Amino acid sequence: MKSDRRDFLKTSSLLASASMIGTGISLPSTDTLVRATKHARMKLSFRPYTLELKHVFTIATSSRTTTPVMLTEIEYDGITAFGEASMPPYLGESHETASAFLSKIDLSKHENPFELETILKDVDAIAPGNPAAKAAVDIALHDLVGRLLNQPWYNVWGFDKQATPYTSFTIGIDTEEVVRQKTREAEEFKILKVKLGRDTDKMMIETIRSVTDKPICVDVNQGWKDRSFALDAIHWLKEKGVVFVEQPMPKESIDDMAWLTERSPLPTFGDESIQGLADVKKAYGVYSGVNIKLMKCGGMREAHKMLMLARSLGMKVMLGCMTETSCAISAASHLSPMVDFADLDGALLISNDAFDGTKIIDGRVTLTDRPGIGVKKIR
Ligand SMILES: [Mg+2]
Repeated sequence: MKSDRRDFLKTSSLLASASMIGTGISLPSTDTLVRATKHARMKLSFRPYTLELKHVFTIATSSRTTTPVMLTEIEYDGITAFGEASMPPYLGESHETASAFLSKIDLSKHENPFELETILKDVDAIAPGNPAAKAAVDIALHDLVGRLLNQPWYNVWGFDKQATPYTSFTIGIDTEEVVRQKTREAEEFKILKVKLGRDTDKMMIETIRSVTDKPICVDVNQGWKDRSFALDAIHWLKEKGVVFVEQPMPKESIDDMAWLTERSPLPTFGDESIQGLADVKKAYGVYSGVNIKLMKCGGMREAHKMLMLARSLGMKVMLGCMTETSCAISAASHLSPMVDFADLDGALLISNDAFDGTKIIDGRVTLTDRPGIGVKKIR
């Protein structure tokens, strides 16, 4: 087994070297990778961090001004790699739960960081749930592997860096005055995402339409309980230039949702209904598409599998986020060249970002050339 692994490492490193000839990017030598694998050990560490939100954030079910996150690092043979768990309170994870989960992980027993499938399966088996804490390990491990290969993940996955989508900018439920102000502030963005699901839905849309006619997508966060009401609302929204509707009904309302999607003049996306890979299969015939988020599914590896399955089923895909630093946003952004819609504004909603990474430039998700997930720690 050991010699097989060394051979694999030699081969993958040589292939990486061959593909990079002429690009001027220096790669670790074959010897470096093999030596690292034989002697170095991965060490995971983590620290709690609290994101300060620029505006009070209100959705159909809650309001808040901060988001707890856990920042992870994996050290390996002189390299430091970064990850993050974002834990909005309504999802049930916290600094305490993440700390308890991460304390149980011993990465030093794995000799080869490239064995993502084995290592992450091992991490997953420690306890059920904890998707954000698991994502924090998954992201740091992907960052490490990318750094060892000296390649950004969009290259490892074979995605076109230039094919990234525009990101939507989220406008939460608020007063007419604040909604108008936020719409004006979002001038840079080509598409707006509006939170609906309370009795202010029409006011929200009409207020935005009094400022701009750019495309809008809406997220109802399970707020509509009656399917006929939902269908009427979607017809009205289509006339107002809305392009899709996210999680219009409660996640348990599967039959009603299938009924609605069949009749809806706009694509429907499942978000709260969709956690991991198995949910993509269940969403087929119920929603037009799925909203993939690293913090729901446990990280980049599962998200990539979900993306491929959804595509193979002919479903649409959007890529979402929580409020999170540019660490988790950058990790997700490597999938963005393959999705229909991106909602990766999470780092723009906070005032104390701890990383520099993928940026939103003129509304578009803009990937860096850096290896791994492409981040630099700034705080
Ligand atoms: Mg949503």
